[in-house]
Amino acid sequence: AATLVSGTKLAKTIKQQISQKVIEFNRLQFPQLELPLTNDEVSFDQLRFKPNLTIIQVGDRPDSSAYVRSKLKAAHSANIESRLLKFDGEITEEALLEEIDRLNKDPKVHGVLIQLPLPKHIDETLVTNSVSTVKDVDGFDRYNAGELSKRGGKPMFRPCTPNGIIELIKTTGTQLRGKNAVVIGRSDIVGTPVAAMLRNEDCTVTICHRHTYDLPAVVRNADIVVAAVGIAEYVKGDWIKDGAIVIDVGINYKPDPTAKNGQRLVGDVDFASAAEKASFITPVPGGVGPMTVAMLCSNVYDAAVYSSKLAHDHKFQPLPIEPLRP
Ligand code: NAD
Repeated sequence: AATLVSGTKLAKTIKQQISQKVIEFNRLQFPQLELPLTNDEVSFDQLRFKPNLTIIQVGDRPDSSAYVRSKLKAAHSANIESRLLKFDGEITEEALLEEIDRLNKDPKVHGVLIQLPLPKHIDETLVTNSVSTVKDVDGFDRYNAGELSKRGGKPMFRPCTPNGIIELIKTTGTQLRGKNAVVIGRSDIVGTPVAAMLRNEDCTVTICHRHTYDLPAVVRNADIVVAAVGIAEYVKGDWIKDGAIVIDVGINYKPDPTAKNGQRLVGDVDFASAAEKASFITPVPGGVGPMTVAMLCSNVYDAAVYSSKLAHDHKFQPLPIEPLRP
């Protein structure tokens, strides 16, 4: 039977490490604060330097609200200050772009995240591209996405879910070089960027999607399977090669009369049958989900350190950062 790879546990460690790094940064930069000697005694309010994450949510989708809540909560546990700007679903694209422009120029804001999906009348590509590259903690703007797509490119930020997936695979201790990795799904958020990262880890990568012929046969060749399909329990155990690593990205609700709300959270992998074949497998919930928010915290910390260095190099005059516009 497979070993369970806990995203919850790894995410907690990562968030703790970030919270410690924020404290250490304050000790170094602001000795006059005279913080308590042990980090456990330092409270959030005593810190002068706090990474700031600003989340924009348009409309009221309950799933988006749940994701936003978990991001705000994770940020706090990592000593990151966070704020939600919520706009009516009717907001115009122009007004939204103005808001982003304002955040791009605000030196107190280090990371800007646009909670997706946006309502149909708003061009998602235009909006995600309008976030300043140095604040693009989701890694979705054209600079970060473009650099990631190059072999040897240097993105400032890598997208959070794919980043979390790579971290989870690495905790298994498996040598990635030369392994066959099969990614099911080619979205801009998960499938496409995780395939680029696996390629950079020297895997031989196959990207599958809804037009792939004989998906089970392709998956049977995989040493590493990343399932990001969006269909409940789609990937079956008899598709999995003996000893493969299985990473389940899916978040799906399945009717279940025995569950509290009449539904149960399941992944894109049929867990019970896949766990019989895999060497390692991630659970849903408690796998990729918590890692996504932990990697977001990590990006916000990096954004804050980067911006504080910029401020320092320019005698605390924040750089006016103009977003790229097509
Ligand atoms: P998406 O709908 O944008 O993309 C799904 C992809 O799967 C597409 O590329 C499509 O071609 C492919 N696909 C669809 N049907 C297929 C089939 N029958 N065979 C093979 N490929 C098929 O979804 P997404 O945003 O990439 O998300 C995928 C899943 O991951 C969803 O369940 C989503 O909720 C979840 N997700 C989880 C996290 C997290 O943090 N855990 C983050 C993002 C997305």
